[in-house]
Amino acid sequence: MTSSKLTIVRIHNELMGTYGDRGNADVLAYRARLRDIKVELIDISYLEDLPSSADIYLLGGAEDFAQVLSAQALIASPLKQVAERGAIVLAVCAGFQIIGNTFSANAQSHAGIGLIDVDSRAPQGPHPVRSVGEVRAYSHTIGVELTGFENHAGHTLLGDGVESLGVIKSGFGNGDAIHEGAVVGNIFGTYLHGPVLARNPEFADLLLERATGANLPQLEASENELAATYAHWRRCAS
Ligand code: GLN
Repeated sequence: MTSSKLTIVRIHNELMGTYGDRGNADVLAYRARLRDIKVELIDISYLEDLPSSADIYLLGGAEDFAQVLSAQALIASPLKQVAERGAIVLAVCAGFQIIGNTFSANAQSHAGIGLIDVDSRAPQGPHPVRSVGEVRAYSHTIGVELTGFENHAGHTLLGDGVESLGVIKSGFGNGDAIHEGAVVGNIFGTYLHGPVLARNPEFADLLLERATGANLPQLEASENELAATYAHWRRCAS
């Protein structure tokens, strides 16, 4: 953590927020506050400058046109330097595609930000179809089976030495029905919506542990505690 509070930046939610991916920030803030970690959640529109000193940066999914606008703004932003200093980046679907080298949108290839060595293309073959539906993938990085919902046209090829975030058990993931997402250091790309951190709290806690450098206490989940923690969250948020 770069200061006494955990700073989470939700990037371009007005462009990159399909399927409730904005909820990833809320899950991180909620689970951090339950561990008495102070949180600042910052929403940055694509017309605003990206802060460079935050701890966690989040990108969601998008339609093609919005994805291109977001990518253009981010190429001109300090996101690459932010990732190079080790900040956490979680990028979902269109976000995953634009943190790579190239991606396809509106039937054209576009430059990505190049945070990780992956390339996303339109589906190949005589019957290209969107990858839509539920996904299950075992993640060696997190040590659990991840679940989520996918809806994308792009297929993502991992560069040499880039590991997938998960091994597909069902669904398409990166389009090959073998790999799901990618992970390089603290940079995570995934096709999973849900929001992914709401459906996979172990993933949320891994990001929080990496960001804070601390072993976080496990959370109990009885109904009473959920009610109490919700009230606690409302107090923290107000
Ligand atoms: N526009 C991209 C695609 O169809 C990403 C879609 C999304 O983020 N859900 O591949």
